[in-house]
Amino acid sequence: MLNRLSSSIKNNLKLGKMSLHTVTKDSTSNLSKLDSSKLQITKIKTPKQPLPNDQLKFGQTFTDHILKIQWNSEKGWGSPSIEPYGPISLDPSACVFHYSFELFEGLKAYRDSKDQIRIFRPNKNMERMNKSADRIVLPTFESDELIKCIAELIKLDKHLIPKDKGYSLYLRPTLIGTTAGLGVGTPTDALLYVITSPVGPYYSTGFKAVKLEATDYAVRAWPGGVGDKKLGANYAPCIKPQLEAASRGYQQNLWLFGEEKYITEVGTMNVFFVFKDSKTGKKELVTAPLDGTILEGVTRDSILELARERLDPNEWVISERYYSIYEVEEKASKGELIEAFGSGTAAVVSPIKEIGFHGKDIQVPLLEGEQFGQLTRDVADWIAKIQYGDEEYKDWSYVVADLSEN
Ligand SMILES: *Cc1c(COP(=O)(O)O)cnc(C)c1O
Repeated sequence: MLNRLSSSIKNNLKLGKMSLHTVTKDSTSNLSKLDSSKLQITKIKTPKQPLPNDQLKFGQTFTDHILKIQWNSEKGWGSPSIEPYGPISLDPSACVFHYSFELFEGLKAYRDSKDQIRIFRPNKNMERMNKSADRIVLPTFESDELIKCIAELIKLDKHLIPKDKGYSLYLRPTLIGTTAGLGVGTPTDALLYVITSPVGPYYSTGFKAVKLEATDYAVRAWPGGVGDKKLGANYAPCIKPQLEAASRGYQQNLWLFGEEKYITEVGTMNVFFVFKDSKTGKKELVTAPLDGTILEGVTRDSILELARERLDPNEWVISERYYSIYEVEEKASKGELIEAFGSGTAAVVSPIKEIGFHGKDIQVPLLEGEQFGQLTRDVADWIAKIQYGDEEYKDWSYVVADLSEN
């Protein structure tokens, strides 16, 4: 299996090189680049009133405006425009509807204590969006230019960005192929759009640890596939296994891969486990390696970097390695499983309390009387402080607008 995996990694790398090549060719052509200075704004006539914070449901209400940028293969990127939020009209034969030429991103804007609006590591999302686009032959773009357009969209709808800790504006950049016709080929037209949704904390009443079902009868992603890209096509097939898990009382799937039953991700989040060697007392924070089957989470990357910097190396090892449900089962039986959590933009971290596997339940410890483990809570704090600008860390929290000025 490892051999099979590593040969697929090599193939992926080859594909990576090929695609870099295409990108370079594009940039030397005469096609217009995405240019934020060409942005045109049409404002809505009657702006919405913000909902009370306690009525915000994730991704259910949207702000007043949408950012749209058309692309076609002859001219390149058109002028970005911000318009009143509303339906999009497309030909029923458009390739997005038939062959899933669609990808998306998810990131958040936060209002800090000085009324500045910040986005967390948007360059990472833009980089990932370009990789997803390249993989399904949709157009790539200059990350900074899209971030500038998004900043204008946020400023225009600033009255709808909720205040308070835990609240934020969820940003959903989306790219679709819009070419009409049923031939399967390279889209000649595309639409990039961004919608935004005011959201509350994922856990409105504090953390709630979840029960997972380890799923081995269905796979989320495979070597040489596209599990590391945020393509819409990756998500629809995950709902049925989730319903099956739910019918047995579990909230999410823990996705396993291969005969070894390696742990890959949980639901639509990356996943981390903490083990403690009972002989040496040394702890290990472990997550699956980026081998092409794992979504390259910005939260995952941030947790790994902060853990490597902040956890005492005499006590901790931070690993990106293969580990299986059997290893977790064995460690749990020896009292060496300490905690486990999912990671992603929506919740930052999501504590895990139990894993059902082949009819048995593996218990994951939580702190006495709490719904989380120690490291889960520490990691949540580290990241929230940076996101809300209470702590500056490198250029991770990126100020896009200063609302105190107007
Ligand atoms: C988006 C996503 C994640 C988390 O990525 P973040 O950048 O941390 O939000 C993890 N796994 C899957 C399958 C995802 O779609």
